[in-house]
Amino acid sequence: MERAVARIDFEAVRANCARLRDELSDGAELCAVVKADGYGHGAEGCAAAALAGGATRLAVATAREAEEVARRLGHVPLLAMGALSEPEVDIALGAGAELGLWSEDFRRLLAERARAAGQPARVHVKLDSGMGRLGTFDPAEAIALARACDADPDLELAGVWTHFATADELDDDGYFEQQLQRFDPVARALKAEFPDILVHAANSAAVFRQRRSHYEMARCGIAVYGLDPFQGDPAERGLAPGLSLRSYVATVKRFPAGQSAGYGRTWRAPRDTWVGVIPVGYGDGVRRGLSNRAEVLVGGRRRPLVGTISMDNLTVDLGPETAIAAGEEAVLIGAQGGEEIRAEELAAQLGTINYEITCGLSPRVPRRPA
Ligand SMILES: *Cc1c(COP(=O)(O)O)cnc(C)c1O
Repeated sequence: MERAVARIDFEAVRANCARLRDELSDGAELCAVVKADGYGHGAEGCAAAALAGGATRLAVATAREAEEVARRLGHVPLLAMGALSEPEVDIALGAGAELGLWSEDFRRLLAERARAAGQPARVHVKLDSGMGRLGTFDPAEAIALARACDADPDLELAGVWTHFATADELDDDGYFEQQLQRFDPVARALKAEFPDILVHAANSAAVFRQRRSHYEMARCGIAVYGLDPFQGDPAERGLAPGLSLRSYVATVKRFPAGQSAGYGRTWRAPRDTWVGVIPVGYGDGVRRGLSNRAEVLVGGRRRPLVGTISMDNLTVDLGPETAIAAGEEAVLIGAQGGEEIRAEELAAQLGTINYEITCGLSPRVPRRPA
């Protein structure tokens, strides 16, 4: 029995990508986003599964991630989406990554570094249509940058793109549509002038929300991993979770009424009961905020997580009578028997989103194939 392990279902990742491909408008490519170690699922294995499921491109956030993906997967079209400092530009170019671009200063730097590397850099000009993060707000500047890239022998204009702030919020006062309306004329003008470029805007939520956002490629992360972009039930969108978090019951102890469990005595047995100790904690990324809130599957049933989660242990109430003995499997995320605990459920208990649940699993938890 392993102390704690994240089981990764690569077949589910593959099938989720095939599902996303079905959802996309004709001809639109799927770019699988594998940043943050594949949202905590392991970038290398998930990238390979995504490509097997019909993704034709990959994206990461940082230069180091680009380097790692290129080293492990060889030549696959790869977009580094984040802001890059000068040394990071060299790393990303060395990895053969395509880069985002939104200022004349960065355009000059990139051209200089690409010339030094002896290979033109492929760039995607980013319009900030309302995310308020990376990209230029000014459509004229985006168009001017695209022309300057096209005219520069050290650069190749590869795309024009934007990113949505509220694709996952259906009740957003029309903000998603406004962003689309700001991006669309810039995308059309550049596509008319440079027919070979790739126009892209949609993340996972946008793919399900609005076909007009698909353009020629969608950059999907969360749905690739079978997590629901709208924080609902992924099965309703034909997605299956790619990760489960499993541990075991290390000890079962009789607690007399009034005995407390864990630091600070935040829970006391309301009656004589059996308590199981599970050797995972916030050192593994099981957030302390779940103390006295979440449930854990043991023996195919939901058991309340009682007491404060420690760095390396947590406790569950097995009830006054139990057949559970030390050695039984415990599931913190995933299915057991007919029950399932999804990342979306834990996210709601913490007031966060499923993205943060899987990204937050620490390196102490080995990732292994399911
Ligand atoms: C992370 C990211 C994505 C993927 O978003 P999901 O909601 O996980 O599908 C797409 N585009 C950009 C710019 C991102 O940073």
